[in-house]
Amino acid sequence: MCGIFGVRGQADAVGLTKLGLYSLQHRGQESAGIVAVDERGDARGVRSMGLVSEMPSPQLEALHGTMAIGHTRYSTAGSSSIENAQPMLVSSRGGHISLAHNGNLTNAGELRVELEEHGSIFASSMDSEVIVHRLARSSALKPEERLADALRGVEGAYSILIVLGDTLIAARDPRGWRPLVMGRLDGAPVFGSETCALDIVGAHYERDIEAGEIFAVDADGERSIFPFEKKELKRCVFEHVYFARPDSRIFGGSVDRARRALGHRLAQECPAPGAELVFSVPDSSNSAAIGFAEESGLPYELALIRNHYVGRTFIQPTQATRDAKVRLKYNAVREVLQGKRVVMVDDSIVRGTTTRGLVQLVRAAGAAEVHMRVSSAPVTGPCYYGIDTPSRDELIAANHTLEEIRTSLGVDSLGYLSLDGMLQSVPGGPHGFCHACFSGDYPTPPPTDPDKLRYGCGC
Ligand code: 5GP
Ligand code: SF4
Ligand code: MG
Repeated sequence: MCGIFGVRGQADAVGLTKLGLYSLQHRGQESAGIVAVDERGDARGVRSMGLVSEMPSPQLEALHGTMAIGHTRYSTAGSSSIENAQPMLVSSRGGHISLAHNGNLTNAGELRVELEEHGSIFASSMDSEVIVHRLARSSALKPEERLADALRGVEGAYSILIVLGDTLIAARDPRGWRPLVMGRLDGAPVFGSETCALDIVGAHYERDIEAGEIFAVDADGERSIFPFEKKELKRCVFEHVYFARPDSRIFGGSVDRARRALGHRLAQECPAPGAELVFSVPDSSNSAAIGFAEESGLPYELALIRNHYVGRTFIQPTQATRDAKVRLKYNAVREVLQGKRVVMVDDSIVRGTTTRGLVQLVRAAGAAEVHMRVSSAPVTGPCYYGIDTPSRDELIAANHTLEEIRTSLGVDSLGYLSLDGMLQSVPGGPHGFCHACFSGDYPTPPPTDPDKLRYGCGC
């Protein structure tokens, strides 16, 4: 996954973009980058591995301009390298092109082969680079039309920000898989993956960039076009379940409200009679656990404490390091858990590794019974649209029955939210959402490249 942010018409575009990226850090911690266009029209960029706070200050200080875009990246395995950091920046006969992409293109492999056959030379292994090459080849005159040309025939998920000469363009694929919002600061538009990125710079939310929309802003003003055939909306339900920040609004709805509703519904569908308290696996399930507590009338407690100075545990090269990382990241509060029958709420179970480790911690801290409740349906398939779920054979719910999962996690009872319950709970649901990793109902044919990694996800 990734976070994207962009501004135009701001005296300190770089400073604002850096702030925007700080608030989108949860969407990607592998690399960060900013490209800015200065008063003379020259574009320059800084990209580095790691967090936004780790971007090299001398280079950042040397960057300035009134237009900038930025990116935080969280790649799929195997493609974590500086060549794949974004925003990409190239010069073409029509001037500089810079791109920041969130999402994953499902036909990047084919498009890339086609471009290579016509002489294109690629500088990265990212799916996103095909958009840049196609942009460079378009002979349309208006920037937004050049992008429309470039995107015609591109399948899959993209929320993108593009700098093309003096123009800043924001676009979202026709199914609207990934969020992209537009706000305003001193009259000028500001774009970000989530509204928390608007809040941090003091911009007020105006609207979402719509599915299938290309929105351009430059010296000639603001223009919006919808050049593609309308498609059924497939907004990623996992954004509400896990990915986005609860203080954000995405897809026109509050993430906090979505998670609370998921928790309420979970308590209705899978109550835990006899339990004495509820706690979350911080931070992603806090709001859902509060919803569960509200619905069940049980106290919400802080039974697990998360160390905020340790990164996310999910992508670790080996099982052994993943196991150790659970203890690095979480500890249990004995005074809360000792002798108690408890409900542990998490937003999702993917491999089961984190959950198993947490259950052991909770039991070692004296819990008498552990009832696990999950505020999403079982994850049974990989995502091809920009979230880094592993292949099917690593997904615990793809290969095991509920009872087998319960035993493997070591819990006294286990309950997942139903698919229907999940879709009914999110704002604007139940229709217009992608739920393929839960239901197997993939909106596009899976990428022809079976492991989806050859042209790694650029998101
Ligand atoms: P598991 O028990 O499957 O090893 O891990 C489940 C935990 O991973 C949950 O706390 C959930 O919030 C988190 N999680 C779910 N999906 C993702 C993801 O795509 N990336 C990361 N980093 N964590 C995830
Ligand atoms: Fe989101 Fe799952 Fe669809 Fe991927 S497959 S876009 S994670 S709902
Ligand atoms: Mg979590």
